[in-house]
Amino acid sequence: MGSGFGSGLDIGFIGLGKMGQPMARRLIEAGHKLVIYDTRGDAAAPLLALGAQLASSPANVADRVETVMASLPEPHIVAAVATGESGVIHGKRIKRFVDLSTTGSRAAADIAAALAGKNIVQIDSPVSGGVAGAVKGTLAVMVSGPQDHVDVVKDALGVFGAVFVIGHRPGMAQTMKLANNFLSATAMAATAEAVVMGVKAGLDPAIMLDVINAGSGRNTASSGKFPNAVLPRTFDAGFATALMLKDVRLCLTEAKAAGVPTDMMSMVVSLWERVASEIGADKDFTTIVQPVERRAGVIVGKILSKTASKT
Ligand code: NAD
Repeated sequence: MGSGFGSGLDIGFIGLGKMGQPMARRLIEAGHKLVIYDTRGDAAAPLLALGAQLASSPANVADRVETVMASLPEPHIVAAVATGESGVIHGKRIKRFVDLSTTGSRAAADIAAALAGKNIVQIDSPVSGGVAGAVKGTLAVMVSGPQDHVDVVKDALGVFGAVFVIGHRPGMAQTMKLANNFLSATAMAATAEAVVMGVKAGLDPAIMLDVINAGSGRNTASSGKFPNAVLPRTFDAGFATALMLKDVRLCLTEAKAAGVPTDMMSMVVSLWERVASEIGADKDFTTIVQPVERRAGVIVGKILSKTASKT
């Protein structure tokens, strides 16, 4: 692999799942050279076909490039990939580890401290905007880390969407991301209850969403997830309930540690625990409407008419 100068960087990418796969693809399409790794054997194939090179472990990725990105499910997996036995910490070339996962600020700070011992810089770079945003390059990309290292990766991160530099302390971008996802989780939970109430009272859910989206109740659930994944009963937004539950739990932990009120957060965590136990943690997070439907004895999704009459 080359030095990384010129139009593209040499980038390692670990974790080629729902988000990592399209983000890695966009990096290749933007002219970057990728060395990739995932524990799922079949995850690499589409990217190898586009010219990516396969590594045998996170350490092997970090032997081959200066910049390693990761998009992994849980904080303990990120910690193992970063600092474990075959983690990037043992790589010979790595200079910076860019974590695109949602891990919370404490995990980010711990990993940053461990990597600093080997002169490797950690950059938090959690993202928001879902699989659709990852495919289109319209994510909100939150970044915190030392400015000189952020400057090296800023253009590469720009292929994922709009880059927001949150600060220079490890974990600041993670706090930003948790605040965002708490609001997204709350919008899903609240919209589920509002729409189920309307359906039980005989309202058409499609008309309800039209009105809400033209009015002051509009949110990311009413404008995106409900029309696209709940009304058609496809439940395929591409984000697992387990991951949303992880995010709201991390947010609650972080808020409690900061000594701020958590009334809403506590309630929202218990609603996501309910959907994980009743519907399944592996299911799409749009299934949060299902426990509400069960209790109400109605189903949301019968579209009676496409648009509300505005007269
Ligand atoms: P995913 O489960 O689809 O993908 C994770 C990938 O990591 C999988 O391919 C898995 O095989 C791989 N993996 C697991 N352990 C590994 C290891 N030890 N070494 C190498 N690879 C390993 O998850 P996702 O939905 O793509 O989410 C990834 C991260 O992005 C999470 O932290 C999530 O919270 C965050 N996120 C997801 C979304 C979304 O809409 N899906 C949106 C924003 C942020």
